Amino acid sequence: MGKGFFNVPIAVNEPVKGYAPGSPERKAVLQAYKDMFNSKIDVPLYINGNDVETGNTRTMSPPHDHQHVVGTYHLAEQAHIDDAIATALEARKSWSQMPWEQRAGIFLRAAELIAGPYRAKINAATMIAQSKTIHQAEIDSACELIDFLRFNVQFMTDIYAEQPESTSDAWNRIEYRPLEGFTYAVTPFNFTAIAGNLPACMALMGNVVVWKPSDSQIYSAKVIMDVFKEAGVPAGVINVVFGDPVMITNTVMASPDFSGLHFTGSTFIFKELWKQIGNNIHNYKTYPRIVGETGGKDFIVAHKSANAKQVATAIVRGAFEFQGQKCSAASRAYIPESLWKDVKSYVIEDVNSFKIGSPEDMSNFITAVIHEGSFDKLAKYIDQAKSDTDAEILVGGGYDKSKGYFIEPTVIVTSNPKYTTMCTELFGPVITIYVYEDDTYAETLKLVDETSEYALTGAILSTDRYAATQATEALQNAAGNFYINDKPTGAVVGQQPFGGARASGTNDKAGSAQNLLRWVSPRMIKETFVTPSDYRYPFLGE
Ligand code: NAD
Repeated sequence: MGKGFFNVPIAVNEPVKGYAPGSPERKAVLQAYKDMFNSKIDVPLYINGNDVETGNTRTMSPPHDHQHVVGTYHLAEQAHIDDAIATALEARKSWSQMPWEQRAGIFLRAAELIAGPYRAKINAATMIAQSKTIHQAEIDSACELIDFLRFNVQFMTDIYAEQPESTSDAWNRIEYRPLEGFTYAVTPFNFTAIAGNLPACMALMGNVVVWKPSDSQIYSAKVIMDVFKEAGVPAGVINVVFGDPVMITNTVMASPDFSGLHFTGSTFIFKELWKQIGNNIHNYKTYPRIVGETGGKDFIVAHKSANAKQVATAIVRGAFEFQGQKCSAASRAYIPESLWKDVKSYVIEDVNSFKIGSPEDMSNFITAVIHEGSFDKLAKYIDQAKSDTDAEILVGGGYDKSKGYFIEPTVIVTSNPKYTTMCTELFGPVITIYVYEDDTYAETLKLVDETSEYALTGAILSTDRYAATQATEALQNAAGNFYINDKPTGAVVGQQPFGGARASGTNDKAGSAQNLLRWVSPRMIKETFVTPSDYRYPFLGE
């Protein structure tokens, strides 16, 4: 089959477009937004390369305008999931034998389609479905997804190049086989890039996939499906199903051919899925691979040597961009008493300057949270903080769901470092701040380490190298992505491979070769050139 050792294009990060007033990209995305917002689409399941309409539909509405309907999607029944599994296993016969350069060609083509003809559409879809500002949509659904697709191709060839030593009489080769059976991708609402990457990276490595997107992301998932189809992903390789997650998961995990779970979402759900796999373990033909990247309670620690304006900016950007709905969003901060007065006034000034509303108005920095469930939960925590004696609202604290699910960016200050919003993932535009005595830095670092079950991201701001070193050491297990003098969000594929430990996930680092290694099962081949024909070793001689 192979007739050359091919080099793949060297992956480079997709440049982020600016969308300044008057720019062509701004015009294009606003036009796409208008067209899509004012029409309706119907999203069927996608099984074996066919659109499957089940007739049982739900409507889709933008979180910032929840009475406005932009389309419908179809819900699967169990028979559709059985079909998706059967079809994937059938497709595996050809796909797992497809030369790697052909698989690479498909996903590199997908990257270019998103970078060019689909860019405005996938960004507009993400603005509508997930209420992202254009900047947040651009860095997610365009740039990060493009980066995942391009870098993964390069990582795949790096993996394939990893080979054992050979000798003159025996040639040792490792083949990186796809997993036997089919894989299952379950994706969250908050990143279009993650939704596309989870099924795509498994398929790139030769696997076949059943993909279940989040109900709140189906509108932009449809664009991903269209891109994959146009890029040439063959029928049956990635099958997309929507509907009751419990039924879908039960059906997938009951199959003896289930061979891997690629999950991103909340911690509780992931633990339940892990448990279910454990309960079924005697039924599987192979031990399923389990990769899950989950929740966070991400921190910012300021040392007394830090610059107050920089600390405030890290808090404001880290906590509130995309309404705090990034797994990496800063949601607890520890500020020394001596800096507090300045940090406080900068944070209040910044938060009061935010404009809130629809992403179509590009002067808005904050838009709506994803759905009513999230809105109600956040409002409950805000009300609680208003009445608790050990917490006070510094700024924000308002909410309104009459048109969209709008929560004002809210800063809570607490005198109790174990206050509920210092420990629990809220996943919204709310950060809680604890002010510590300057001379309790070491104790504060211990507190940061011990306060939450998570260990996803965290940041230390300090101009004192000894203090930064002390934090790096003390917090070594408290974050999988640790930032010095920066906000704890904004990881870039190929630059900061992403993932956390403890309850935050298996830390298989999305956007790295390490993640792709989970989707292959190496086969060692030793070829001996002159085969022995006598069992006797020299030492047996007289
Ligand atoms: P979620 O857990 O509600 O949903 C994630 C996926 O799981 C969705 O597709 C959902 O339909 C599915 N699901 C829900 N219940 C299920 C069940 N019982 N069985 C099987 N599947 C089920 O999460 P979300 O609200 O979409 O996303 C936010 C969460 O994701 C946050 O906790 C965030 O921290 C986390 N997240 C983590 C990372 C990371 O890299 N660590 C990245 C993005 C999001």
